[in-house]
Amino acid sequence: MLSNTNWFSTHAISDRLTRVWEPHVHSFFRANMFHVVGRDADLVIDFGMGIADLRSALRIPSGKPVLAVATHVHVDHVGSFHEFETRLGHAAEAEAFARMPDADTLADYFRKQPEALTTAAPTGITPEAYKISPAPLTKALAENDIIDIGDASYTVLHLPGHSPGSIGLLDQRTGEFFSGDAIYEGGLVDDLPGCDIEAYKITMNRLSVLDVDVVHGGHGLMFGRDRLWEIAMSYLASKEG
Ligand SMILES: [Zn+2]
Ligand SMILES: [Zn+2]
Repeated sequence: MLSNTNWFSTHAISDRLTRVWEPHVHSFFRANMFHVVGRDADLVIDFGMGIADLRSALRIPSGKPVLAVATHVHVDHVGSFHEFETRLGHAAEAEAFARMPDADTLADYFRKQPEALTTAAPTGITPEAYKISPAPLTKALAENDIIDIGDASYTVLHLPGHSPGSIGLLDQRTGEFFSGDAIYEGGLVDDLPGCDIEAYKITMNRLSVLDVDVVHGGHGLMFGRDRLWEIAMSYLASKEG
């Protein structure tokens, strides 16, 4: 059985940004988590399945403040959210974070997924017995809120469509953009409970003209501004006619 520390895979994108993922989770549920080391606080974006202890795997210096931001309440992004004390997410999903009902997290899809895990989880949890720990928000976010970690700050963009409270975080100074599941490299999802295609089209129009340098999505690898435009345009084209 894998230990907690080698459950996660990590890639240091830079000396201040690490991408974290769970290679032994079925690809549908294998989401990205990001750890940004800030001057005054660290920022952790998204929290995987919660079947291993994420916080200790991140090796954050003890005593350093940590801002935990969930891009939305889906099962593959909130499992370890409860491990963090300061929890931020969009107000539209505040009630869902507090109770983590299947209707919002879609955890039942994971329980029913054949070969949901390719190896046993460090906690011994099985997909059939899977549960998400409630993680009430300590602050509900809205469009234009600022998340400040000292040497970088991120503007909250409300990007509904994939889910009602989907958000992105944009550093307007550098163009670094964390987009959650609003947009990423790979098949986008707009046909699950809670999805809203009309709202998603508005979000895609907005994203297509967003001034970014690099996009870190909720799934897949990072990409640039041109690819952001292409993905948004191909989504919009697929909804025409
Ligand atoms: Zn999602
Ligand atoms: Zn996802």
